[in-house]
Order: sequence, then structure tokens, then C-alpha cells
Amino acid sequence: MGLIDDRFDKNVFTTSLDWVFNWARRSSLWWLQFGLACCAIEMIAASMSRFDLAERFGMLYRASPRQADLMIIAGTVTKKMAPVVRTLYDQMPEPKWVLSMGSCANVGGPYDTYAVVQGVDQVVPVDVYVPGCPPTPEALYYGILELQNKVIKYETMARKQGVDAAEAMRVAEREAAMAAVHG
Ligand code: SF4
Repeated sequence: MGLIDDRFDKNVFTTSLDWVFNWARRSSLWWLQFGLACCAIEMIAASMSRFDLAERFGMLYRASPRQADLMIIAGTVTKKMAPVVRTLYDQMPEPKWVLSMGSCANVGGPYDTYAVVQGVDQVVPVDVYVPGCPPTPEALYYGILELQNKVIKYETMARKQGVDAAEAMRVAEREAAMAAVHG
């Protein structure tokens, strides 16, 4: 992807190709096989035959971060474990996504202590949060569906707009609204 990544202006060709890439990505999310605490049991349950997460969405858990594009943070993130989580995230190839599963990963859960990270977003960027202690497999399913909605919008070839462009657009829209109000 390096040769075509982020190179072209948006047009019907680049956005259509991006959609095809994203359709393939969305339909084959491979997640990193690791768990941190009790939420991981629910994640494992979701992948077993009753819920069949792995088969249903073309998902597959991989034991190597280099073959995974989804990190499910399932469980309590201790400060001792946080650097390891970050290292694993850094070893995953782009594009990659993070799903935070359960109250502990989301905000520290019941462990407001010196040893626990109060939200894994302090360590890695999170795309989807799944609430619960623990979330049920069905809740994880819902989180995956929300993530798929995000993956399909990812821009590979089409040039990303960036923060400056977003700010310029916001200012232009505000000025247009002011002009409409004041005639
Ligand atoms: S959110 Fe609840 S179930 Fe999940 S790791 Fe924390 S304490 Fe365990």
C-alpha cells in the first residue's frame, strides 16, 4: 500500500477503489490473540462455536501482531502491562484498529488504584468502546459491527483531509452561516 497510500485527491476512482479495499478489510479483520483479564473469557466465548465470531465475519485470531489488524483490549490494563500493549500495537501493520472491551479497559473499571491504567486510550488510540463488566459476546458483536462501519470509511488512496483542512472547513461553514443570518 505504501506506493499508493495517501497520494491522490478524492474522485470517483480513488474513493471507489478505497471502498473495495475497505470492503475486504472489513470482511476479514484479524485480531491479535491476547487477553488481559476476565473480559478475555467473554472474548474467547465469542469466538467459540456458540457465538462463532471468528467464522461469521471472516475474523481470525493471530498469535503475531505482524499478521493482525485489530487489537481487542479485553481486561484490566495494569501499568506494568501498558508498555507491552503499546509495543504490540506498534508492531501491527497499518491500517490497524483498536477495540476497548469492558469497563477496565475503557476507564479502569473498579480499580481506581496506583497500579491500573485509567483507560487504555492513554496507551493506544481507541476506535470503539464496548461497555460492560464484562460485556457479553453479543455486546462485543455490536462493537465489531460498529468498527466495521468505521473501517469501510477508511481512506487509503484518497488523500486524508487532516486537522487543518477540517478546521478550515469549519471556519468556512461558520462564515457562510453568519453571512446567511446577516444577509
Ligand atoms: S471489566 Fe469487569 S470483567 Fe472485564 S476485566 Fe474488568 S473486572 Fe474483569
